[in-house]
Formats: sequence, structure tokens, C-alpha cells
Amino acid sequence: MKMKRSHYALWLPTLITSVVIISLFWMMHAFLHHNLVEMLQTHKRSQELTKKIEKMVSSTLNATFLGDEKGFLKTVKLSNQIHDDILLIKKDNEYNTDSLFNSYEQLYKKLISAVSYTTENRLGDAKMALEEVESYSSDLENQMDGLNNYFDLREKEVERTLFIIMILSGALLLFIALFNGFYLIPHQVIRPLEEFAEALKGSEEKYRIVADWTYDWEYWLDVDKNIAYISPSVERITGYTPKEFIQNPSLLVDIIYPDDAMYWDRHVSEAHLPNRPEEDAQEVEFRVVCKDGGVIFVDHICRPVYNHDGTYMGVRVANRDITQKVAILDELKEKNRLLDTLATTDGLSALYNRRYFDEALTREVEYAKRTGNTLALIMCDIDYFKLYNDAYGHQKGDKVIQQVADVLKATFSRTIDVVARYGGEEFVILLQATPPEEAYNLVELARENIVKLGIEHRESKVAPLITMSFGVVSCIPDLLSNGDSLLTQSDKALYQSKEKGRNCTTLLEC
Ligand code: GH3
Ligand code: MG
Ligand code: MG
Repeated sequence: MKMKRSHYALWLPTLITSVVIISLFWMMHAFLHHNLVEMLQTHKRSQELTKKIEKMVSSTLNATFLGDEKGFLKTVKLSNQIHDDILLIKKDNEYNTDSLFNSYEQLYKKLISAVSYTTENRLGDAKMALEEVESYSSDLENQMDGLNNYFDLREKEVERTLFIIMILSGALLLFIALFNGFYLIPHQVIRPLEEFAEALKGSEEKYRIVADWTYDWEYWLDVDKNIAYISPSVERITGYTPKEFIQNPSLLVDIIYPDDAMYWDRHVSEAHLPNRPEEDAQEVEFRVVCKDGGVIFVDHICRPVYNHDGTYMGVRVANRDITQKVAILDELKEKNRLLDTLATTDGLSALYNRRYFDEALTREVEYAKRTGNTLALIMCDIDYFKLYNDAYGHQKGDKVIQQVADVLKATFSRTIDVVARYGGEEFVILLQATPPEEAYNLVELARENIVKLGIEHRESKVAPLITMSFGVVSCIPDLLSNGDSLLTQSDKALYQSKEKGRNCTTLLEC
């Protein structure tokens, strides 16, 4: 459409130039034609003048020799007409009529003389005057021939000029047509238009490449929520072709994983509000069910689009497939969790390690200080374990440590209880909000359960079985209490149990 308008604009100056040339040609033609017509009139007049002169001469002769009085009157009338005609010819033309006038006046004088001599009956003089009349008459006729020739030449000149003008105008028009056709239009219009079209095509190609080769799945929803553009990468990511989305724009929402629909709805209610600033990018993550039934994670970022005059043009969206990223993050989270476990767990017993216990103790002492709860700290140690190792070997010793740990874990099984291996064959247990008797009873239960394991220890000086000694400290921490002071107290209680003969429990209350 635009191209056609350009062609009109192109042809308009040519048309105007041609019209101007044709008009000029027509005006010149009209002017010359008018001249020609006038000349023909004058020519005709001069031809008539010749006849009038002949008539005047013959009427004079008739009047002279035949005494025709009417002939005199006719001669006078004709002589006046001839006089006026010569004046007209002089007025209308460049032709010099002086000599014509002169000859005419001579002729006229001689005619008058001839007529006078005849009246006076001086026939000899009249005859001589008539002879001169004939001479002047033929002279006048010659001059009239000259005048007629002049008009013939002028006519031919004008006709030739008209012909030349016509040829020149035609040639000029032909030149303009050829110039337009072979130079002006191809070089000044068509080529720049082609170059412009080429540049436009190149530019369009550039933007198409930028858009089409985006790795992410991008699209543009117009104000009516129709898809104005969708990148081919959508097929790689979802399995659906761009055409399928264009034919059915609701597919964009239909493929959202049902459990994630609420994230999408919330995003739409916030992100698709009118008059949002263009830099206001809204982001949401959700899962998408692909054409093959597989589920992928997508990071969706959208922002409003406005054109150069600020008119809202819809929303521009970039969807990134983050399935791999999510998988890596999950893996990392799992590894971190594992690291946390390793950092806080004892490898042999699978109980908490000393590091974790120290932190828990500090934390729980402070908590008990604030709440006024009773805190019980238990320290326990396998009796004569060195002798056990010596008798049964270190590996068997490790096994005993594991079995004992299991019993402790099973006995102090509340989630808030902290059971840890404190080092070697020594364990610590932290019981929150546990009164002294309850703590003591639980510890006794644990001690008995260890005996019930029935692990042979023939070198033990307490019993032929593996036994444990326990020291329990139970208190409501005061301002001066801290983890170390509690540990010291529990260690003291354990020492007392060892002193008492082992396989027993000592409770200290403070
Ligand atoms: P007591 O009744 O006074 O506690 O006597 P005991 O032999 O248990 O005490 P002692 O501190 O003299 O010995 C502790 C022993 O525990 C020394 C070491 O052989 C053993 N032991 C410490 N850690 C481990 C371990 O991880 N595995 C094994 N198998 N033995 C350990
Ligand atoms: Mg020990
Ligand atoms: Mg011991």
C-alpha cells in the first residue's frame, strides 16, 4: 500500500511537468495559429486590393475613353478603399508599404490627370497620362506580387515554426519519459526504495533472530490476551508448537500443574493489574505439564508493554525452564542436610556428638533460666570398659558402645530429649522440664535395660555383664548456672556412682 503511494508521488511531478509543457505548446500553437489566421486575412485583403487596383484602373479608362461618369465616382470610391486597405496592411504587418503607397499615389495622380485632360479634351496629354498610368499600374501590380510573396513566405515560416515547436515538444516529452523511466525512477526512487526495503528486511531479520533464537520460552500477549508472538523454543520446553498456542491461547494456563494453579492465580491478580509501570517485572515459579506428560519447573517473569506514545500493548513474558536448577537445589539441600547431620552426629553411635550437645546445653540452660523449668543432666560411663576391650577386642567394644547407645536412645525418646556421646564410652543426656524423681526413674530404667542386654563382660568387677554407672544432676538453673557448672555437677554425681561400686545411679539436686 505504501509502495503504491510512493509511486503516485513519483509520477505526479512528471505529470505536472508534462501538463505544463503541453500547455505551453498549446499556447504557443494558439498564438502562432492566431497570427497565421490574421496573416491569411491580410493576405486575402492584399489579393482583394490587387483586384480593386485593377478595377480602379479599368473604371478610370472607361471614364476617360467612354465618358462614363459613374466610372469616375467608382474610381474615387475604389481609390478611397485602396487607400484604407494599404493603411490596414501597414498597420497589421511589418512589411514596408511606403513604396506601395508611393506607387499608388503616383498612379492615383496620373489617373486624376488623365481624367482632367479628358475633361479638358486634351486627348494627347490624356493619352500620355494613361500610358504613365499603365506603367505605374504595372509597377503597383509588381509590388502587390511582392507583398503576396511576402505573405506566402511568412505563412510558410509560421507553419515551419509550428512544426518545429511540435517536434521539440514531442522530443522533450519523450526525453522526460525516457529520463524518468531509465534514470530518475530507477536510480532516485526504486533503488532507494529497494535499499530501504532491504534494510527493513535485514532489520526485521535481526529482530526475528533475536526473538526466535531466545533459549527461553518467550511470548507477548496483546491487550485482548491473544498471543502476538511466541518463540519457537516453546516446543523444545513444553512439546507444544507455537501454532498450538496461537490457535488456543488458553493452553498457556491449561498446562499449569494443577497443584500450582493457586500460585498462577495469585500472580495474575497482582501482575495483570492495569497501569503498572513498565519496569515492574513480576515473577512466579510453577510447574508445567508437558505434552508428553512430563513435569517441568518454570520461572515466569512478565512485565507490561507500552509503545512509544504510552499506549498499553499487553504483557511480555519470559519463561525459563528451571527443572535442572530445581533438581540441583534439591540435591544441594539434601547434601546440606546430610552435612548438618554429619556435623552434629557421632559416627559410631549415631547419637548427637559432643559439639551438638554443648550448643544444646548452653541453649537449654538459658531457656530453663527464662521459663523456670527443671533441667536434668545425666552423665554415664560404661564400667570397666578398658578391661572389656582388653578381653574382647576393640571391635567388640565398638559394638557394645552402639548397643548401649541404642538403649539410651530408646529410653530417652522424647523429641526434646538430647542424648549424645560425650567421648569414649561416656554419654550425656539432657532432659527438659523433668522433675528429679522422674529423671532418676528414667535413668534407673535405662541402667536396668543395659543390664538386660546381657552382654558378657567376664573381666568386670561388678557383674559378669556390661553395666553402666550414672550421675544425675537436677536443678532449676539460677542466674549463676551455666552448662559447665551443670557438667561439673553431673560428673561429680557419676564419680560418686563409681565410688559406690558402679552399676548404680547418683542423683544430685541443686
Ligand atoms: P571405669 O569403670 O572406671 O570407667 O573403668 P574404665 O576401664 O571404663 O575406664 P578407663 O577410662 O580407664 O577406660 C576407658 C576405656 O574405654 C579406654 C578405651 O580402651 C576404651 N574406649 C574409649 N573409646 C573407645 C572406643 O571408641 N571404642 C572402644 N572399643 N573402646 C574405647
Ligand atoms: Mg570413662
Ligand atoms: Mg568406664
